[in-house]
Amino acid sequence: MSIPAAEPLPTAADSDTPGNHVIDRLVAANSVYADTFTDPGMGAAPVLRVAVVACMDARLDLHEALGLELGDCHTIRNAGGVVTDDIIRSLTISQRALGTRSVALIHHTGCGLLDLTEDFRYELEAEVGQRPAWAVEAFRDLDQDVRQSIQRVRTSPFLPHRDDVRGFVFDVHTGLLREVLPR
Ligand SMILES: [Zn+2]
Repeated sequence: MSIPAAEPLPTAADSDTPGNHVIDRLVAANSVYADTFTDPGMGAAPVLRVAVVACMDARLDLHEALGLELGDCHTIRNAGGVVTDDIIRSLTISQRALGTRSVALIHHTGCGLLDLTEDFRYELEAEVGQRPAWAVEAFRDLDQDVRQSIQRVRTSPFLPHRDDVRGFVFDVHTGLLREVLPR
């Protein structure tokens, strides 16, 4: 199904209007996308054999920022771009089942996790009556957290490819990556 070309997509400003919800906007945009989409016929294994682990931050457009095309890489994202057990789960599948060999880790300036502490879990407990089992993974020092993430990948027994692992901080104001070298 497609919407008529003349019908404008709802804007972000409209998204809190009753009956004009943001997810409707996404679905409408998808309809336009599918109209011109052609199946590239590629397999699921990423062409560049790389997995990019990054923060979920809305200002970080990984494909644009890294010159990536459809099918090039796995993008694995969470709050902070922190290497958690679930990121290791995805990387393990990425490497063992889908052939990736390299891992790029991307944190960024102005990350929301710089403003949080593990107290967040206790604040949640006070509010809802239970403390989450997961760590917030808040950090004070971006570079150190990138180094920790590199270390978590390099020491994971589940990953067969741990040599080509590099970490970066993306500057949300300049669009530039800065590499963080492991100590
Ligand atoms: Zn972030």
